[in-house]
Amino acid sequence: MNEEAVQLLQEIYGYPEFRVGQQDVIDKVIARQDTLAIMPTGGGKSICYQIPALLFNGLTIVVSPLISLMKDQVDALLELGIPATYINSTLSNGEMHQRLKNASNGEYKLLYVAPERFQTEEIFYLMQSVEVPFIAIDEAHCISQWGHDFRPSYLSLCETLQSIHPRPTILALTATATPVVSDDILRLLGIAPDNRVKTGFSRENLAFQVVKGQDRNRFLLEYLKVNRTQSGIVYASTRKEVERIYELLLTKGIQAGKYHGGMKESERNDAQEKFLYDKVTVMVATNAFGMGIDKSNVRFVIHYQIPKNIEAYYQEAGRAGRDGLDSDAILLFSPQDMQIQQFFIDQSEMEESLKKYEYKKLREMAQYGSTQMCLQRFIVRYFGEDCEDCERCSNCLDDRDEVDITLEAQKVLSCVKRMGETFGKAMIMKVLTGSKDQKMKQWDFEELSTYGLMKGMPQKEVTQLIDYLTAEKYLAPTDGQFPILKITNTGVSVLKGELKVSRKQAQVAEKVAVDDA
Ligand code: ADP
Repeated sequence: MNEEAVQLLQEIYGYPEFRVGQQDVIDKVIARQDTLAIMPTGGGKSICYQIPALLFNGLTIVVSPLISLMKDQVDALLELGIPATYINSTLSNGEMHQRLKNASNGEYKLLYVAPERFQTEEIFYLMQSVEVPFIAIDEAHCISQWGHDFRPSYLSLCETLQSIHPRPTILALTATATPVVSDDILRLLGIAPDNRVKTGFSRENLAFQVVKGQDRNRFLLEYLKVNRTQSGIVYASTRKEVERIYELLLTKGIQAGKYHGGMKESERNDAQEKFLYDKVTVMVATNAFGMGIDKSNVRFVIHYQIPKNIEAYYQEAGRAGRDGLDSDAILLFSPQDMQIQQFFIDQSEMEESLKKYEYKKLREMAQYGSTQMCLQRFIVRYFGEDCEDCERCSNCLDDRDEVDITLEAQKVLSCVKRMGETFGKAMIMKVLTGSKDQKMKQWDFEELSTYGLMKGMPQKEVTQLIDYLTAEKYLAPTDGQFPILKITNTGVSVLKGELKVSRKQAQVAEKVAVDDA
């Protein structure tokens, strides 16, 4: 353990000890090893580069896409007595040049820059005139096309870094890297796989909840009534929805703000300030809100609709409880909402292969809504790790009885098999319920022994059953917009009668609500 680092932590920051992972990252960086740090939001990433920056001679550059966060971070550093500054598009040219000049005179220990800035001549000039031993790249998942927030400027940054001699030590940091994304970051930045430091993804103070089959407005208003004094964010998928929910809250006398890309910058800043300084308690927003919001006392994050994938969800939900106190992360789930996100993918100008990947990630998000596994565990597994059941989420606390549904599962699986594992869930549902759809005749499905095997069961319930079997990995969807369902090895074991399937059944009252929804 580096004693100087511990001393700085105690004397400057006033913390007695490093958190899990921090020590390891700092040791590697001080030993001049390029490193990738993957830590959850609120895990304490900033200290991982700020302390080495203090230990190194010269200037440390921090690359960050979050303009609003730069100022906050710099203000916090200045308060601690650490000379730091930032340059980004909010500064006048004169101010920017002054700061660069000060930097080349060695007046700062840390300089925050946006990735685009990194390609300008000024930075090169700066690096000629002052020693830059270390570069920290925050939100490093933006480098990867497989990440949920790819930015071309990050990719060019990698190229620029290759051309700097001698190359500074690099530390890439992110809270949301799947194994694919983290491999990509390692490759693009040339970091050795052994230098990946990953701390647990679990957020001990977050209670994840999935709410299904309820009137969403009613749920939201009830929740806000009970938690009247608490601060929180309500995320919706579209600007229109944000406006509608915002109006609804106002008419109910709830002090709400709104934030989306269609508002003027000044209005957005104003709304953000009001929320940060607790002038309004609830912020209704699209995903445009929150990147880099360091508000520690956010007690709940409610998603009115599903976001595009689990990485985005975990990042947004993770804005709750940064102060470590108990907080809620609630998803109001309705499978139909996938259509909005699907539409966004369709409309985007992504390449086909990327679109396919995005559809796959969206489906995993929907599986989160259908699973009965511990929700925290589901997320952690998505990121390629595992953890114990959290005992806090709505699935862990679900005390409904487990019912054996092996027979129903076998009916679905054998139907999938008889259809040659070449169709999607809508068609499978139609065959099982004995639909009169023309396609049944066209494909000779009426001849199958599984045709009408679940006749009389509402279509919606059969669809939910198929979703459940998919979420629990008895069935696996192929890539693409219209996935085909295939039977997994676990599914085969169920078909052979080697494995039982159980499910917590919806209570009668809830079932009615689902059918009415
Ligand atoms: P991240 O960037 O990973 O989301 P931050 O760097 O903003 O997280 O840190 C989150 C909070 O944890 C901050 O308030 C920070 O001061 C605090 N923190 C960081 N390291 C420690 C530590 N070793 N002990 C106690 N608190 C810490």
